[in-house]
Amino acid sequence: MTIEQYAAPETLDELTRLLSGGNALIFAGGTDVMPQTRAGARQFQPYLINASRVAGLRGISREGARIRIGALTTVTDILESNLLSEHVPVLVEAADCFASGQVRNTATLGGNLCNASPAADLAIPLLLVDAELELSSNDNGAPSRRVVPISDFFVAPGKTVLKPTEILTRVIFDAPPSGFRARFIKFGTRPALDIAVVSVGVAGATANMVFAITRVAFGAAAPTPIRGKKTEELLEGRLLVDDTILAASSAAQKDVSPISDVRGSAWYRRELVRTLTERALHDVA
Ligand SMILES: Cc1cc2nc3c(=O)[nH]c(=O)nc-3n(C[C@H](O)[C@H](O)[C@H](O)COP(=O)(O)OP(=O)(O)OC[C@H]3O[C@@H](n4cnc5c(N)ncnc54)[C@H](O)[C@@H]3O)c2cc1C
Repeated sequence: MTIEQYAAPETLDELTRLLSGGNALIFAGGTDVMPQTRAGARQFQPYLINASRVAGLRGISREGARIRIGALTTVTDILESNLLSEHVPVLVEAADCFASGQVRNTATLGGNLCNASPAADLAIPLLLVDAELELSSNDNGAPSRRVVPISDFFVAPGKTVLKPTEILTRVIFDAPPSGFRARFIKFGTRPALDIAVVSVGVAGATANMVFAITRVAFGAAAPTPIRGKKTEELLEGRLLVDDTILAASSAAQKDVSPISDVRGSAWYRRELVRTLTERALHDVA
């Protein structure tokens, strides 16, 4: 499809109004959209909207107990954030495994989530902190917002609950309590510039002087990034001793439903899930 019009709005109001007209494709950093359209995996729409200039959607802040990250915040911004290093180092850890410096400078958090790849690196730490996603639209001149938990956001590979007229504006979550510890491990076939074959995240907190795991998440191991509910149930309230870690890494294999593709077979991915879960749990223990 050929592009008939191009727009680069500078306000959220302008952007959501343009989107409400339909037949539009928006991009932020373009690091997914451009290679996908070039490869024929996605079509341009008559209206191409560059969202990257919209004011107020880039930045990381803390308001009371809540941390807010704008959708246009780049991977480099995350990597260089003192606030995130202090409160959610696991998100910085995921940014540190992400692509190359050049891609990180333009790739946005919003694009990573809205592209909805099962291997989206930034989704894993955000699942660990139960992030909420603020979605904004402007239908018939009436601006509206809704908030969706990240665990309900992804529907299928490349599909989210976003309506065609909506955009992701912010990612919001509670600053984790002191004693929060988390780990993100990404396995790729190369150390850099690679999409995960499998990624695993685990997080826990100290309650009554005892550290216990509260969240487990997997990337590239199911049609969407997912929480590991069976693994979490097994770990609930248990001390992270060797036997528990072994049982949890086996349970992790029941949480996932990987596919075979060019990066690895389903069997290989299941083995990676077990091994990386064991390693991540040992690391936080
Ligand atoms: C060489 C290379 C290496 C890569 N390595 C990694 C990697 O290590 N890990 C990883 O996870 N990904 C990786 N990627 C994929 C990509 O860089 C990321 O997914 C990136 O975060 C996408 O952000 P973007 O701003 O470029 O998205 P865009 O390409 O601009 O958009 C992606 C999708 O999201 C939609 N979109 C963008 N912003 C919004 C918004 N605010 N609201 C609603 N919809 C929106 C677009 O319409 C499109 O569907 C890599 C890509 C390349 C080219």
